[in-house]
Amino acid sequence: MKTFGVLLIGMAVALTARPAPAAEPASAIIRGKLTQDPDKSPCLVTREGKRIALEGDEPTRGVLKDKRLAGVDLELKGHFTAPDSFAVDHIHTKSMYVYKDGKKLAITYWCDVCSIRTYSPGICWCCQQETALDLRDPDKAFDKP
Ligand SMILES: [Zn+2]
Repeated sequence: MKTFGVLLIGMAVALTARPAPAAEPASAIIRGKLTQDPDKSPCLVTREGKRIALEGDEPTRGVLKDKRLAGVDLELKGHFTAPDSFAVDHIHTKSMYVYKDGKKLAITYWCDVCSIRTYSPGICWCCQQETALDLRDPDKAFDKP
């Protein structure tokens, strides 16, 4: 009987922990080659050769347009807005990862001078120097700078 009680508690926890029904479109994860054509929005070309146009908030678009990331094997979390169009989740949800040498890496930007880490390319808000692209182990990427 004791086991049964524990099981019931476990089920109750599982039920209450379930997220509220999503009003948003189903979340999806896509992976492919980041392709940056001039004059066009960045897109992802999947292994099947399908081109998917990418949208996102401004910092996300900044990452997708970063020339240093052209051609990378990229994984994105978000949702489809059309069969060939995908909206990446907001930058703070950590929805973009690069696969390199079989490792999944978070995309971060690092200022050496100030030891400040950001998640979108551009100049450091502190010293105004260009930040360096720094692909990191996701477990360590989101620590405080
Ligand atoms: Zn700086």
